[in-house]
Amino acid sequence: MSAAPPAYWQPDGECMDREELEQLQLERLQATLVRTWRNVPFYRRRFDEIGFDPEGLRTLADIQRLPFTTKADLIQSYPYGMYAVPLRDVVRLHASGGTGSAAIVMAYSRNDIKTWSNLMARMLVAGGVTKDDVVQITFNYGLLAGAFGVHYGAERLGASVIPTSSGNTKRQLKIMQDYKTTVLVSTPGYALHLAEVARDAGLGPGSFSLRVGMLGGEPWSEEVRREIEERLHLIAIDNYGLSELLGPGIAGECTEKNGLHVNEDHFLVEVIDPVTLKPVPPGQVGELVMTSLTKEAFPLVRYRTRDLSAILPGACPCGRTLVRVRRLLGRSDDMIIIRGVTVHPSAVDTVLRDILGSVPDYQIFVERPGTLDEATLHIHVSGSLFFDEMKLQTGFIDKVRRRLSSELGVTFEVKLVGPRPGDGSPGGITSKVVDLRRK
Ligand SMILES: [Zn+2]
Repeated sequence: MSAAPPAYWQPDGECMDREELEQLQLERLQATLVRTWRNVPFYRRRFDEIGFDPEGLRTLADIQRLPFTTKADLIQSYPYGMYAVPLRDVVRLHASGGTGSAAIVMAYSRNDIKTWSNLMARMLVAGGVTKDDVVQITFNYGLLAGAFGVHYGAERLGASVIPTSSGNTKRQLKIMQDYKTTVLVSTPGYALHLAEVARDAGLGPGSFSLRVGMLGGEPWSEEVRREIEERLHLIAIDNYGLSELLGPGIAGECTEKNGLHVNEDHFLVEVIDPVTLKPVPPGQVGELVMTSLTKEAFPLVRYRTRDLSAILPGACPCGRTLVRVRRLLGRSDDMIIIRGVTVHPSAVDTVLRDILGSVPDYQIFVERPGTLDEATLHIHVSGSLFFDEMKLQTGFIDKVRRRLSSELGVTFEVKLVGPRPGDGSPGGITSKVVDLRRK
């Protein structure tokens, strides 16, 4: 008989008294600001421009005086411009967001890797994973940070890690069966793809030993969660990571599945209105803005994540005092203006869910071949029976087009296309909008 698995990985950090937590955040914020001012010319310039003395920070709310850091700032500092430690103290580099000098190169010190491992172990334990689990990681092992973060966390916890990396779905399934994988780490889209390929191969949910799915890397609905849970016989847990900030390990659900606990002792979270840039009240949807509180090599102050969410009020029955944010609702930069009409993908979600019962993977392409915007909706259809029938129904396309036109005020060309090439990469939220107009 082994003892019951721990409910928390780091109870001191995860269940801290709120007042104590805020005091700790303030101390860590002060230290971060002083360090970035001293060591990162970008931040020194930014703080000096507004006459901000990092030693003079008195409350957490004082952070609102500071300018935001954007992805463009990080791209401009390519490759090493934002580091707060000399390169000799960096033990790992990861990159995301494009090729060449459009990429962002993230650095980790030895302590950063240690912190990362512990934060990811927290997420795994919160999702119900124990050291007895066999964890199959289908994220791509490469420049993207995702696979490594989960890998370290699972090893730190003492679980058995299978680093299958991405692709080769049949081999993934064979390993899942033979090695008796109990925890699947993937994007929600790839989990569904695995379920489908398994079914096509005549493998039902009973063929596997899966127990938990640690899923992340893209927004997914409760409908998709139910479908994954049903088809793979597991509990699907949502996780939030952002490569610029750390990778996975920033926030994740506990088994209550009611919001994602933010690791607030390491990240200060704000929610702002993406248009006015002012803070929104708790409960209201806005863009997440994050400040790292303990990162040594690559600290970020008020980083605009572009991810839309909201702070959830109230305490969680799991006992963690860390604040919870809603599951991601999309990206603020996915809001798009087509022929003068503002369109948010969530409105497209609603129409598709109404017609299909669930939201398929889709992308909106906007072009301006002449003087007018032209919008095309690509609905990515998979090989499931449902969609095979759907493919035959041109009536479906008409219906989608009519509904979008009447409810959004925008006429879309609607096309059914094959699935997106999914490699299970957690390199960030996959964009639903592709704007091909010349700016
Ligand atoms: Zn909880």
